[in-house]
Amino acid sequence: MSISIKGLDKIYPNGNHALKNINLEIPTGMFGLLGPNGAGKSTLMRILVALMEPTAGKVDVFGYDLMKDRKKVRSLLGYLPQDFRFFAKYKTHEFLDYAARLSGMNNTRKRKQAVDAMLESVGLFDVRERYANKLSGGMKRRLGIAQALIHNPKVVIVDEPTTGLDPEERIRFRNLLSEISENEVTIILSTHIVGDISSSCKCMALINKGEVSFYGAPQDMLREAEGKVWRIQVSADELHEVDKRYPVIATIPSGTGWEVQVVANEIKGYDAKPYPPNLEHAYVYHMESRLNLWTNG
Ligand code: ADP
Repeated sequence: MSISIKGLDKIYPNGNHALKNINLEIPTGMFGLLGPNGAGKSTLMRILVALMEPTAGKVDVFGYDLMKDRKKVRSLLGYLPQDFRFFAKYKTHEFLDYAARLSGMNNTRKRKQAVDAMLESVGLFDVRERYANKLSGGMKRRLGIAQALIHNPKVVIVDEPTTGLDPEERIRFRNLLSEISENEVTIILSTHIVGDISSSCKCMALINKGEVSFYGAPQDMLREAEGKVWRIQVSADELHEVDKRYPVIATIPSGTGWEVQVVANEIKGYDAKPYPPNLEHAYVYHMESRLNLWTNG
């Protein structure tokens, strides 16, 4: 295990109970932390990178205690926060050089080599002379990951990295993360976008209202939702009724009415056909079943 989290609790000074007894084992490779806004993901990330102390609990990073060996743990970690910004005065390569200096790379020649190699691997070498704050959204995110990786950390934590990116940039960024995770680097990817949790995440956790509601492989999350997703053919009048009774995932015009996709353990009173779940369906299933929001018919 690269990170072991036991009994983690965070209560903010204003009384917000953001994390409630979080227990997670994060293996090496790509780990997805999925949950809606306000679930507690950023709070957990900030604790993991030692920017904030938990109210209770214990975190081990490669055997080092986060609270006792903060300096050592920090050296093992790279972090790309959600709202990463660049100073206007730095060109792309100057910014990365600055990040490398901050991480303690004092030898100018070696630092230049490391910066060039990193720019190459994140696909920014050709734009290295451009001012960092003038890069496109996707390029900025890639420069963000480059600064998180420049000191060769064993774990990289990325918080909502694809928010605001267009689909092409999003795919490119996801592929970049997969490539990085192949080089023995653990990546913790925190996101509210189900599509970010791709097949490259061997393991994932679903977090909601400060609690873990699923932990395991994405395929297991899918399997648990099998037989719980339904397709119902309804008239326009019935649509409202179905919407009130079941969590609706999709509504598609069909003939004179609608085809509605819903999650439920069983459907009563409608002609429902089972539908093979995708990860988005499974996400809704787990969120809803945890909250017990739906009625069973
Ligand atoms: P996420 O990253 O999943 O969107 P956050 O960790 O930002 O969730 O927030 C979890 C909960 O903690 C929310 O209810 C949020 O309002 C609250 N929260 C976050 N930061 C603070 C803070 N500095 N002070 C008080 N409450 C906070």
